Amino acid sequence: MTIIDGKEVSLAVKNRIAEQVKQSGIKPGLAVIIVGNDPASRVYVNNKKKACEYCGFLSEEYALPESTTLDELLSLIHKLNEDDKIDGILCQLPLPKHLDEKEVIAAISPKKDVDAFSEVNVGKIMIGDYSFLPCTPAGVMELLSYYNIEVAGKNAVVIGRSNIVGKPMAMLLLHADATVTVCHSKTKGIKEICRKADIIVVATGRRNTLTADMVKEGVTVIDVGMNRDENGKLCGDVDFESVKEKADFITPVPGGVGPMTIAMLMQNTLSAYKNNRK
Ligand code: NAP
Repeated sequence: MTIIDGKEVSLAVKNRIAEQVKQSGIKPGLAVIIVGNDPASRVYVNNKKKACEYCGFLSEEYALPESTTLDELLSLIHKLNEDDKIDGILCQLPLPKHLDEKEVIAAISPKKDVDAFSEVNVGKIMIGDYSFLPCTPAGVMELLSYYNIEVAGKNAVVIGRSNIVGKPMAMLLLHADATVTVCHSKTKGIKEICRKADIIVVATGRRNTLTADMVKEGVTVIDVGMNRDENGKLCGDVDFESVKEKADFITPVPGGVGPMTIAMLMQNTLSAYKNNRK
């Protein structure tokens, strides 16, 4: 059994990017907008800033008060859409309740939408013509590739069907020629479905969604979940201790998928630079 090391893979991706940036003397720019005082969002934004520094990117942070109006936020986004130094714009979610996330995402130019959340980029993911890969699912694909885990022709199960993880994850696996089943909270016989799977990606936000009795020997298990246990310790959606006894490959939480998301964001920002400044 191999425990997949997301930190190692994420570092390899960031090193690859930093090397390209250094060699070609370029300066891709990422603007990160954070509204309000959500502590988890603050941690994510700080980590994104650090990753930008590591890769040699220009990083601009816009920390706006909770009281920011939709008009104010949209006018900042419009300004950044026109800013030639900025290749990628990211608005940290969740936003305070009075701000309509859909409208905010739609305001970001698709050419700078490095989260790949806009309708244009989601549509492109469907047809496999990517401008930007959705960061978390792309990070999962990078992990599979780094560990030479075959995807083509395999039975893959994705548990969770959110727009930011489950659905694009299923698409990426499908484009990589897996036979994909998507499960959700209304799925019947989830155990039987999972027991036939060669690869299982779990993204439910519920602890112990996947337990050892639900998997076959030799399975690859990717845990996207980020939860807190009763002691406040970070944990995933998979019962890691029992499932690892049957898996050939498994990601831990923390240290699995988590570090990959930011590495893929850096990758998208570099792609945006290449596309925007042609
Ligand atoms: P979400 O929007 O809440 O979606 C959860 C999905 O799981 C839904 O489709 C839901 O089904 C399904 N589900 C819930 N309970 C289930 C069950 N018992 N059996 C089967 N399916 C079930 O969550 P998300 O945004 O996709 O995030 C999922 C997890 O990944 C969270 O823990 C989040 O923190 C984490 N995450 C991590 C990263 C990272 O970088 N590592 C990035 C993004 C998200 P229905 O559709 O039927 O309700």
